[in-house]
Amino acid sequence: MLSKKKGRLFVISASSGTGKTTLARELLKEDKNLVQSVSCTTRPPRPGEVNGRDYFFITKSEFLRRKKSGGFLEWANVFGKFYGTPKKEVERHVRGGRDVLLLIDVQGAKQVKHTEPKAVFIFLAPPSKEELKRRLEKRGTDSKNEILKRYRVATRELKALNDLKLCDYRIVNRDLRKAHAILRAIIHAERL
Ligand code: 5GP
Repeated sequence: MLSKKKGRLFVISASSGTGKTTLARELLKEDKNLVQSVSCTTRPPRPGEVNGRDYFFITKSEFLRRKKSGGFLEWANVFGKFYGTPKKEVERHVRGGRDVLLLIDVQGAKQVKHTEPKAVFIFLAPPSKEELKRRLEKRGTDSKNEILKRYRVATRELKALNDLKLCDYRIVNRDLRKAHAILRAIIHAERL
């Protein structure tokens, strides 16, 4: 008997303000074999964010406990807060034959590259540093200080990614509709 085909991991790495959340939402709506891994974080929820849908909002001590017991596929400290991908959930989906989308930062993507080299790595880049700053400001969910911090980390990440050759694909998100079409084509092609 043929064994059930396992799902794949699609790692989308993008800094804040590159449009990854919107793109992921669109993809998930139309692709029923794709599920998003919901990360755990110690940062507080933003207005409109729902626990269990956007993130699992947990305390630092709970995060550290889960990290210690090997509960995360990868984890990172971003802007002074912890973020991690719950391992069991991802494994359950993959075993069930579903493809899993991970929306994580560069530090996390590096870890996944090490443990899951067959995963597909996609980097979503902003069109320019100026545009990135504009988008971060426009979002209006973070304080000025927070925006500046995110901008600094994002520009550092952009450089690291160019140096690292970590990604299989690099999409410049100039136009959300075009970026979406490219992303869909990549996922489709990787499944063939
Ligand atoms: P935000 O606080 O804006 O939702 O996310 C901040 C950064 O953390 C983004 O670059 C996002 O991709 C990243 N991030 C979210 N969840 C995870 C995760 O589970 N692991 C890692 N490594 N990064 C994450």
